[in-house]
Amino acid sequence: MAIFTEVIRILKQKSSEIKNHIKCSEEEQMKYLIIGNGIAGVSAAETIRSIDQDSDITMVSKEKTPPYSRPLISYVVSGELKDAEIIIRDADFYEKLGINTQLGKRVLKVDADQKKVFLESGESIEWDRLLVASGADPRLPGVEGTNLENIFTLRNIKDAKKIVSCCKHHVKKAIVLGGGLVGFKAAYGLLKRGVEVSIFITSPYPLSQVADEQSGILIMEALRDHGLKVEVGRTVEAFEGRDGKVSGVVLKDGDAVKCDMVVVGKGVDPAVDFLGETGIRLNRGVVVNTRLESSIPGIYAAGDVAEAPDIVWRENRINAIWPVAVEQGRIAAMNMAGLVTSYVGSLARNVIRIFDLDFMSGGIVNPPDEKDYEIRTSYDERKKKYKKLVFREECLVGMVLVNCIDQGGVLLNLVSQGRKLRNLKKTLLRTEDYYPVLETSWRV
Ligand SMILES: Cc1cc2nc3c(=O)[nH]c(=O)nc-3n(C[C@H](O)[C@H](O)[C@H](O)COP(=O)(O)OP(=O)(O)OC[C@H]3O[C@@H](n4cnc5c(N)ncnc54)[C@H](O)[C@@H]3O)c2cc1C
Repeated sequence: MAIFTEVIRILKQKSSEIKNHIKCSEEEQMKYLIIGNGIAGVSAAETIRSIDQDSDITMVSKEKTPPYSRPLISYVVSGELKDAEIIIRDADFYEKLGINTQLGKRVLKVDADQKKVFLESGESIEWDRLLVASGADPRLPGVEGTNLENIFTLRNIKDAKKIVSCCKHHVKKAIVLGGGLVGFKAAYGLLKRGVEVSIFITSPYPLSQVADEQSGILIMEALRDHGLKVEVGRTVEAFEGRDGKVSGVVLKDGDAVKCDMVVVGKGVDPAVDFLGETGIRLNRGVVVNTRLESSIPGIYAAGDVAEAPDIVWRENRINAIWPVAVEQGRIAAMNMAGLVTSYVGSLARNVIRIFDLDFMSGGIVNPPDEKDYEIRTSYDERKKKYKKLVFREECLVGMVLVNCIDQGGVLLNLVSQGRKLRNLKKTLLRTEDYYPVLETSWRV
């Protein structure tokens, strides 16, 4: 027993030595460059430094601010948090890790042959390994009047502050375009500020990317019960203005609705404009392999910009959520620093509290065909509890839970484990207490 313990101790010590003290000789020293100061970039920088303590790391970001929690910016809009309260690393974070920064500088171009990145400021930075962690940019509707004042997006802290400042100038009525997570969060923030809010959604129900129809309808009812005007199947045709400021929206059906402010939450596009000349493989985002490396060796991608393997869809997808960005930043960094590590894939997942309604979804929520998938649902109208389980080849590949999310994480684990569930399918639908019905070794 003593020998066994000693072996374990030595192995642990060795592995931490490898992890923490890969010392590089002069010629082995790398120049790591990270485009993006969001969570994918931060997670990557910290991981590289934990493996390689000598090489150069530079982070470049068009935003000047230190890293902050993007999901919390709507709480700055609502006034529940101050901008300083959403910062996720102390001011000395870069210095402590020996990271060079180029903050407030936009990357205009990447030259993959010269291994250089060109900034708007006219400067250029060389790299041996490059991580693209540039996130995504909000999509604008591209209709007449989009340039009017008081039309906002909600992607960064600057946007949140602009919305707050606008609210201080006699904003009575706001229109939010889009019924996704960002649209919701914006509407919630404005409502908290006492602004009257209407949401116009093109899809037939809110959160259509992460909910199914039944849960979408329950969400819509919850929103309406709490004073939000939600209108579905409504698409903007143009913005109207007065004195350069937005004064209303015109909808495709011809209706015109007055407002003092608009927040556009109609989805995002991966921020890849500076990669155009590289010849890198792009689809929606940067297409990467299981090492999170792009089609150009030495260039990696992570976070909202990366189109990476997805566990249940069995294809590359963008799952633009915080935990995925953290994980991808870490795995990309390990590979950049020479520790070959395979990324198992991401899994779409969302947990949202909408006033008094709890919603959770994961994996494939709306299967593309009925042939390969088996769908089981249960609905308790009185308690407004809804459950949908999606199976493929006897495995759970997707789920939607409304007002029964307590042990939803157990189901989510089953989705990521890809277990054959066979005779458990009916039981999983019926119970909310999943642990007792699972084999002990499946419980994580
Ligand atoms: C309002 C809102 C609410 C959200 N709520 C949730 C939630 O509840 N749960 C959840 O999991 N996720 C949520 N998300 C999504 C989550 O915030 C993102 O998935 C996550 O922040 C992605 O991190 P990232 O590092 O990939 O990209 P980002 O955080 O977008 O970081 C990108 C970085 O790249 C920089 N950059 C971009 N282009 C350039 C350029 N050309 N030159 C230089 N720098 C550049 C940016 O300045 C930024 O520093 C929300 C997002 C928003 C906007």
